[in-house]
Amino acid sequence: MSRLDSFIRRMTAQRDILNHICDGVKYLDGPVIELGLGNGRTYDHLRERFPDRRIIAFDRAVGSHKSSTPQPDNLIIGEIRDTAQTFVGVDAALVHADIGTGYDEKDAVTLTWLPQLAVALLAPQGIVASGLELRHPALEQLPLPASVKPGRYFLYRRV
Ligand code: SAM
Repeated sequence: MSRLDSFIRRMTAQRDILNHICDGVKYLDGPVIELGLGNGRTYDHLRERFPDRRIIAFDRAVGSHKSSTPQPDNLIIGEIRDTAQTFVGVDAALVHADIGTGYDEKDAVTLTWLPQLAVALLAPQGIVASGLELRHPALEQLPLPASVKPGRYFLYRRV
């Protein structure tokens, strides 16, 4: 599969997953956390789906389109491993983590801290959608929408 095909499938998986979890998230209080603002595309999708919800986005640098850049109080710049510590206990309804790099060795480093950070940010029963597989005893894997091939994206609920 070409990288273009792979990219298209990842984008489609993201959209389908975010749409899929909308109803579940609406029944939970708490903010939405976007780990990896990037261009701001998934941030914009979340904002459209959750217009009344605080969405806090994290990245090491601002690279988002002007129209998809959060207000300064909801944009946290720096290394997520450090900056997100301030938000531990925020009881997020949803954590969306799109910080995989496609390089196994870099992603392995991220996975030394991301699963426990996601758990610490989430409310009980909160949902995490992640491009990287998260292994943590407090995360129960949820079924993916039928359109998403297993292993392309991961969905969990905090137990
Ligand atoms: N979902 C975004 C979108 O729709 O535009 C794309 C996110 S992009 C794939 C990943 C982003 O995560 C990059 O902008 C990168 O700078 C950021 N990132 C990855 N690891 C990070 C870390 N440890 N701390 C801060 N930012 C990180």
